[in-house]
Amino acid sequence: MIARESFSQVKKSLAAISYSHEGNLGIEDREAFSYSGKDHLRTHHLYVCPSDSKELQRHLAFRDYLRQHPERVSAYGAVKLKAAQLFPNDIDRYMEYKSSIIAEMYKELGEMSEKNAVCDITIIGGGPVGLFAAFYAGLRGMSVKIIESLSELGGQPAVLYPEKLIYDIPAFPAIPAGELVERLVEQLERFEDRVTICLKEEVLGFEKTGEHFTIETSKGEHLSKSIIIACGNGAFAPRTLGLEGEENYADNNLFYNVHKLDQFAGKDVVICGGGDSAVDWANHLEPIAKSVTLVHRRDAFRAHEHSVELLKQSKVNVLTPYIPLELKGDGEFAKSLLIQKVKSDETIELPLDALIVSFGFSTSNKNLKNWNIDYKRSSILVNSLLETSQAGVYAIGDAAEYDGKLALIATGFGEAPLAVNQAIKYIYPERDSRAVHSTSLVKED
Ligand SMILES: Cc1cc2nc3c(=O)[nH]c(=O)nc-3n(C[C@H](O)[C@H](O)[C@H](O)COP(=O)(O)OP(=O)(O)OC[C@H]3O[C@@H](n4cnc5c(N)ncnc54)[C@H](O)[C@@H]3O)c2cc1C
Repeated sequence: MIARESFSQVKKSLAAISYSHEGNLGIEDREAFSYSGKDHLRTHHLYVCPSDSKELQRHLAFRDYLRQHPERVSAYGAVKLKAAQLFPNDIDRYMEYKSSIIAEMYKELGEMSEKNAVCDITIIGGGPVGLFAAFYAGLRGMSVKIIESLSELGGQPAVLYPEKLIYDIPAFPAIPAGELVERLVEQLERFEDRVTICLKEEVLGFEKTGEHFTIETSKGEHLSKSIIIACGNGAFAPRTLGLEGEENYADNNLFYNVHKLDQFAGKDVVICGGGDSAVDWANHLEPIAKSVTLVHRRDAFRAHEHSVELLKQSKVNVLTPYIPLELKGDGEFAKSLLIQKVKSDETIELPLDALIVSFGFSTSNKNLKNWNIDYKRSSILVNSLLETSQAGVYAIGDAAEYDGKLALIATGFGEAPLAVNQAIKYIYPERDSRAVHSTSLVKED
């Protein structure tokens, strides 16, 4: 299992130890490798999958199912043995013979996972408040799902001001916004067995169907017993170049946000944009990358004077006023960017290893109208228990509106346990809903 963007490197490393790439053999996101001259090893199959591969998840679910059902393991083993005896040299008939027991097991597995998939609390939005709510729900023993439209967690602090210092988080005299997000994610990791995180998935709508809510997203459906909305000012989406095929390269070697500078070490990097982030990334990457080219549609940058001064003194190749015209690549990785000088026919093709598009992010709360809850402008109306107008649905953080509301992280952190507690009361009315101390809930090994 690997990060999607490192496949070429992994392929190269495997080739060096005599594994040759056979393609995906018709199964998406599962790359097969063959080998020769490995008599010292047991006969084996080698597949490389990106960590979010559906096929990998299917395999792992099947493995877990077998681990939980030893009686099925014996039956499956017996069928395979029989198939091998009957058809030692006919792979098609061998496969056909064992297909019915496999289908039976997958059916049972499907029913099981569908049942398991109804989680207790689904949180819409992975900003700071959604993250803390997920932690608190985990602490209270709930199964939790966070659905976040971006490819990263952290909401506004991660996207809009990761470098800025925040001074009003309890117990932190000052903390960079990016670090606050890292710590929230770290805190949540304690409950990784009960928290599922779905990134790059936007919640479009939801409705109560029988016992639970069916949540419709840009990728499919989720089932949940309750919902906590922590969607801030709306779903974040990066402003893109708007060029054909761009979506194929996103997160492979095209990035809309930068967290780890060292991933660009030794690379030819092209950055598009003219704001603070674009100029800062160019300055920070200049000593690390092989080359940095900054492309902006105007001659002047909208960045701090000091940063622009540093840029002028650096070796960054600054190209203004140019606009991106065409992105060329192999469908998986972008290879070059064609740019055109404003009010001219002059074009330049910039070969690249990585492309950073720093045009900022937009937010949209357009989905609110499909959620069947009361809202005013783009905020959700809640009572003092954080309940929305629909039973089982709560709102917290910047998304929630009530008399005297302050849109601050600390306020959202306070609202999270209250909403989680109400959700638990809604799902399990028989449970004691008095405050529980984490000092007595968490047992260290
Ligand atoms: C420049 C700046 C400085 C700030 N400084 C401070 C400060 O010093 N102190 C302070 O307390 N506050 C500060 N704030 C405000 C603070 O960042 C917000 O109050 C806080 O981020 C709210 O957190 P949240 O989790 O409610 O929402 P957000 O941080 O907005 O996160 C919401 C998340 O939900 C996701 N989402 C929305 N809709 C959907 C959907 N339909 N499907 C899936 N995902 C969705 C979004 O993509 C986003 O990631 C500052 C804000 C800015 C812009």
